[in-house]
Amino acid sequence: MLSEPADLAWEALSAEILTGMREWREQHPQATMREIEEALDERWYRLRARMLHDLALQRAAADWNDRHAAERPTCRRCGTPLILRGTRPRQLNTSGGHALTLQRSYGRCPTCTKGRVPPG
Ligand SMILES: [Zn+2]
Repeated sequence: MLSEPADLAWEALSAEILTGMREWREQHPQATMREIEEALDERWYRLRARMLHDLALQRAAADWNDRHAAERPTCRRCGTPLILRGTRPRQLNTSGGHALTLQRSYGRCPTCTKGRVPPG
C-alpha cells in the first residue's frame, strides 16, 4: 500500500497540473499546439517522475520485506538469498529529462561474503 504522504503528493501534483495549465493558457493565449503540448508534457513529467519514484520504492520494499527467504533477491554469483544490509541512492533519468533518485536496497551474500551485492 502507498503511504498517505505519497497519495497526497500525487493529488497535489495533479491539481497543480490542472491549475498550472489553466494559468499558463491565460498567460499564453497565442500559444501554438506545439507550445501547449510542451507546457503540458513538462507538468505531466513532474507527476510521472514522482509516481515512478514512489512506486519503485514501494516495489523495492516489497521485494525485501514481504518474501520468504526462498523468494528474496539472490546473489548474482551463487544464487544464495541475500541478507538486507541497507539502501543506497541510485540516480536515474526519466524520459522527461527529470533526474530521479531511488533508494535501492542492497544485500550481502552470506556464502560469497563479498560485501555489497545488488539483487541479480
Ligand atoms: Zn553468493
